[in-house]
Amino acid sequence: MKFGGTSVQDAEAFARVAEIVAGEMENSPVVVTSAMSKVTDALLFAFETAKKGDVESAIESLEPHFQRHTIVSVELTDEAQQKAFQTELYFAKNELKDLLTRVSRRSLPLSMLKDAVVSYGEQLSSRLLTFVCQAKHLNARHADSRRLIVTDDEYGSAAPIWDETERFIQLELQSSINKGEIPVMGGFIAASRSGETTTLGRGGSDYSAALVGAALKAREIQIWTDVTGVLTCDPRICPEARTLKTLSYEEAAELAYFGAKVLHPKTIQPAVDLQIPVRVCNSHQPAEKGTMILPSSQTTTRLVKSIAYKKGITILHITSARMLGAFGFMSAIFQIFERHRTVIDVVTTSEVSVSLTLDNTDSLEAVVKDLQRIAAVEIERDQAVICVVGSGLRDTSGVAAKIFTAISDFNISLISHGASSVNMTFVVEENAVKEVIKKLHDEFFNQKN
Ligand code: ASP
Ligand code: MG
Repeated sequence: MKFGGTSVQDAEAFARVAEIVAGEMENSPVVVTSAMSKVTDALLFAFETAKKGDVESAIESLEPHFQRHTIVSVELTDEAQQKAFQTELYFAKNELKDLLTRVSRRSLPLSMLKDAVVSYGEQLSSRLLTFVCQAKHLNARHADSRRLIVTDDEYGSAAPIWDETERFIQLELQSSINKGEIPVMGGFIAASRSGETTTLGRGGSDYSAALVGAALKAREIQIWTDVTGVLTCDPRICPEARTLKTLSYEEAAELAYFGAKVLHPKTIQPAVDLQIPVRVCNSHQPAEKGTMILPSSQTTTRLVKSIAYKKGITILHITSARMLGAFGFMSAIFQIFERHRTVIDVVTTSEVSVSLTLDNTDSLEAVVKDLQRIAAVEIERDQAVICVVGSGLRDTSGVAAKIFTAISDFNISLISHGASSVNMTFVVEENAVKEVIKKLHDEFFNQKN
């Protein structure tokens, strides 16, 4: 059972979580929690402040968040538990002070310090949740994720080393479960082989949950969030968006890549490998069933399941006459992106050009400079990727026609019908997103269909 930041945002939310966990007692749950909402951002902000040399302000800026933790413990736990939590908090503050001082002095690699600093969100929330569960007379036991999930040392988005992770989780957690305990651990955080704290990337708690679920061969992985399952589209754009009962792993993966806020893309993998169902549900409405993500053989087929989008996209058009009939050109281009660690989302090609989309433009300048050595580069900013997902797209002719007829008023570029062919992806200008999504939702989800 994984709880996201908004599911543990305050005392009320913590109390609900303990309630939800209590309801699953006979299913031997393992609890994975995110940091309290906004805490990861606050820690990153403190890191940046310290980097500029202002350690005092960095520490001060965290104080309100420490307070939020304290309020939860005062409201929901007994005096002994409060005292125990205060001790944890006291150590955390001192350790953070030390780490932030090191940041300002650059006395250790910054990427390493950054992960150490941000890890306190989950370190504290998981300790606190353990006490809250204990106060509810649940046999909860805190487990340090850094002793369970082993990663490489790619700080900021470390990759788990599966065999070791599986072994540690089985050893530690299975014996705890066998004793009737409920392990409670922080998501997102892990440690490298040499024991340094690492993180799995923003939103990485889902991934932690999937890793734990896979290692323990769980019957189900539950992702508790603040929306009821996966919707047909963003309800802020279409209020009539509906919750999907089922979704295949493939469909969910496509949605995740293209901006559906519900699941971290990598989450899918450990679950898929073992065909473990993933349930996405709402901690604010625990009675609702949410969306089940399953092997495709067990899901319903609809022409289109959901429409996702991602704004803030930049397109690069790379053109070179040298490309005509030449080999190695694609590879040369992609090597540049690899060198600058820049992820590409959508790619389309013609005889003499490649167009591709990026959502992270941190290294854009450097990338473009290198590309210009071998080709002409044109940049288009403020674009959005739209992704229409549904296994029906695989074998139904005419869906593409239906999609593009519905939005024929808009300028569309970079159309791609992916290898998985459960998705149709294309790019529009950012300011057209709302209209395009509305039209498509109307086309595929209106009563008339
Ligand atoms: N707390 C981390 C973040 O905000 C991880 C997570 O919430 O899954 O990115
Ligand atoms: Mg989160």
